[in-house]
Amino acid sequence: ERSGRRSQDADKLKISFEFFPPKSEKMEENLWASVERLAPLSPSFISVTYGAGGSTRERTHDIVARMVEETKVKPAAHLTCVGATKQEVNDVIRSYADCGVNHIVALRGDPVDGVGSRYEPHTGGYVNAADLVSGIREIGDFEVTVSAYPEKHPESPDFAMDIEMLRQKVDAGATRAITQFFFDNDLYEAYVERVRRAGIFIPIVPGILPIHNFKQMANFASRTGASVPQWLANRFEGLDDDPETHRLVAAAIAAEQVQDLLERGIDDFHFYTMNRANLSYAICHLLGLRPDGA
Ligand code: FAD
Repeated sequence: ERSGRRSQDADKLKISFEFFPPKSEKMEENLWASVERLAPLSPSFISVTYGAGGSTRERTHDIVARMVEETKVKPAAHLTCVGATKQEVNDVIRSYADCGVNHIVALRGDPVDGVGSRYEPHTGGYVNAADLVSGIREIGDFEVTVSAYPEKHPESPDFAMDIEMLRQKVDAGATRAITQFFFDNDLYEAYVERVRRAGIFIPIVPGILPIHNFKQMANFASRTGASVPQWLANRFEGLDDDPETHRLVAAAIAAEQVQDLLERGIDDFHFYTMNRANLSYAICHLLGLRPDGA
């Protein structure tokens, strides 16, 4: 009965995957191998991030353009407005329209001087994510996704400000939000309730981070406002030098998280793949998803 229920659930499941532009050729091969492995799971889209301060402008563009040409998946290009004039950002937006990319994940980006410093809009640049969303929508018929923070953004004084920023992005034309990663589903659910109470009804898609390296993740989390529960740390305790067990534990934890979200009625998931297919693939398999033709 359980497997029957799962395959039925799997019919209405939606998934998407996120990659980042790698620095070396070897890592780039790895990216394409991972895309090839995950694409048959029929994701709604695969998104490619934009390096801090716009540092991967060309690489992000080249990867999504190649996805259009060589794969069946729909790419989404991340874009930030840090350290660039409107003109420069608009050129990037137009270049996406020109190569058939019609989905942009629009972000403000982190301050040029790093997380924790004060964000200053670039002279002549878009002032924030909502402003960027408006600019994108003016230039072309793009689908625009934005960010959301179940534990609020580290710069936010309170949830009210956070949700106000989300509202501005939606008013500017965003039709989906993807969340920062989180490990406590109660926090996500409480956040979505706040958003709905504020009269915002776009999908708030949970961003799921399969943990490839607990230590690195915990370091990163402390800069993004995502909390790492003690129970999670306990589960990875002693596994720093045991990659095999680390991987199995990570798969079990992410599968458990996604299964619990499913039971709460969520049926759309975004996976932060870290450019590696295996964990995300295994979790999707557990969700009942099978590759095309299988
Ligand atoms: P916004 O949504 O504009 O603002 C974030 C929060 O900051 C707001 O909720 C608000 O509470 C607070 N805030 C903003 N302005 C003010 C103000 N004037 N007064 C008070 N509070 C304010 N970064 C990259 O560089 N490249 C990427 O590809 C990338 N992809 C991402 C994808 C996702 C799904 C997520 C969740 C984040 C991503 N980021 C990326 C990180 C993001 O750029 C940073 O978190 C950045 O600090 C905020 O950008 P934003 O678009 O989320 O900002």
